[in-house]
Amino acid sequence: MEQNAYALGAHLSFSKGFLHMGREAAAAGMRTMQFFLRNPRGAGAKPLDEADAAALRDFLCEHSFAPVVAHAPYTLNPCSPDERVRALAAEMLSDDLRRMAHLPGNLYNFHPGSRLKQPPGDAVKTIAALLNRLLTPDMRTTVLLETMAGKGSEVGGTFSELRAILERVELQDKVGVCFDTCHVWDAGYDIVRDLDGVLDAFDREVGLSRLRCIHLNDSLNPCGGRKDRHALLGEGHIGMDALCRVVTHPALCALPMVLETPTDTAGHAAELRVVLRHIQKEETA
Ligand code: FE
Ligand code: FE
Ligand code: ZN
Repeated sequence: MEQNAYALGAHLSFSKGFLHMGREAAAAGMRTMQFFLRNPRGAGAKPLDEADAAALRDFLCEHSFAPVVAHAPYTLNPCSPDERVRALAAEMLSDDLRRMAHLPGNLYNFHPGSRLKQPPGDAVKTIAALLNRLLTPDMRTTVLLETMAGKGSEVGGTFSELRAILERVELQDKVGVCFDTCHVWDAGYDIVRDLDGVLDAFDREVGLSRLRCIHLNDSLNPCGGRKDRHALLGEGHIGMDALCRVVTHPALCALPMVLETPTDTAGHAAELRVVLRHIQKEETA
């Protein structure tokens, strides 16, 4: 198999536990992975199995994994105008972070949410206030805001909106950003024709040093489509050439990169092999 010189991986199912997931990722040639800690559509989570978490910790270390990523349930709305919805989101995020304390040194990614009918500035302040309650000086998890497609009233569809949240956070070393290629493309950032320009804009608004993770997805829609429909790599409007330029870009190539394309682990492993072969071909051309 092609050597995975990059920290590539994919979203995996947590249903058989932590260690099983790590073994599955390693067997598929991955060097990172992402997972939900609970049902992504609901609230329920099994009690944490501490021995299983410790076993994964050792496994990731032995297999030189890059940081792994837990993803918050995506139905949460941390900036909802409805107080009960907000409280549920806060409760789940803090429970997830308690779980992540058993996997120190890794990442926790969440969607900023939907502002619904609020003015944009209110949602930004709500999310920052939530982060200021959740983050503690002693925590060893970095919490990431994901770049969003800007679908509906989604918060985080522009780099400046992410900055507006981040600049209100007190514990700056506990937060970062996850850059989703499908989402930024859908939000109108043209990473196909001008990746450097997009990264310059990101650097100006947010700072490249805050970038901690890439979600590597193709998009079913054209740039600016604001739809957030992921495509298999090379089968969407972004295309394999542009996605491989993301993987090999000097500012990005050391980051954990997670596929969230619509396929299973065997499919992800096949996509990763195609990416690595494509890069190798470009390098020797
Ligand atoms: Fe996401
Ligand atoms: Fe994503
Ligand atoms: Zn998405």
